[in-house]
Amino acid sequence: MRAYRELPPGYRETERVNLQTDKKTALLLNGLGAAAAVLLFLAGHFLMMPFPEFLRGRIACDSVWEAIAPLVVMSAGSLVYIVLHELTHAAVMKACGGGHVRFGFTGLYAYAGSEEDYFDRGAYIAISLAPLVVWGVIFTALLLLAPRDWSWVIWLWQICNVSGAAGDIFVACRTARRPRTLLTRDTGVEMTSFDLVD
Ligand SMILES: [Zn+2]
Repeated sequence: MRAYRELPPGYRETERVNLQTDKKTALLLNGLGAAAAVLLFLAGHFLMMPFPEFLRGRIACDSVWEAIAPLVVMSAGSLVYIVLHELTHAAVMKACGGGHVRFGFTGLYAYAGSEEDYFDRGAYIAISLAPLVVWGVIFTALLLLAPRDWSWVIWLWQICNVSGAAGDIFVACRTARRPRTLLTRDTGVEMTSFDLVD
């Protein structure tokens, strides 16, 4: 798993994906993300704690702060999560030898990308899936440790983690199907594939 600062000899561009111009794929990924969110919400409702029970627990609190604290923590935590998700992508880019990481926000989604690196297939799959896996494990551990009252707060973070990773899973699956020699440059808004040509 490594990054190349320059395209090695013999490589040429084979494919380009830009989710800002490829509206059909962007819409499909948003739809899949939303469907995953609904399914996970229902799983939480039926397997963990009915959602109205969580809300009733809030109303039954003695003080207003006690009642809204989990909702405030949940909202603030979701914003912090977006930053941590991108930092996790960036950390793996760096670990694979990547150079300058550029962070941004398109209005629809936040991103971490690089203009100068060509990541090999293994590195690019690891970069794509790292936030889903790392935060998936952390939220699962938190869910097991946290008091029952807080389980919905953590579960909603997990829902953000999984549904927000639709694009990451899409590029990882796409990359995994390509030859071992594949190199990818991902600026955060555009993903370009390069491969050896005979
Ligand atoms: Zn991501």
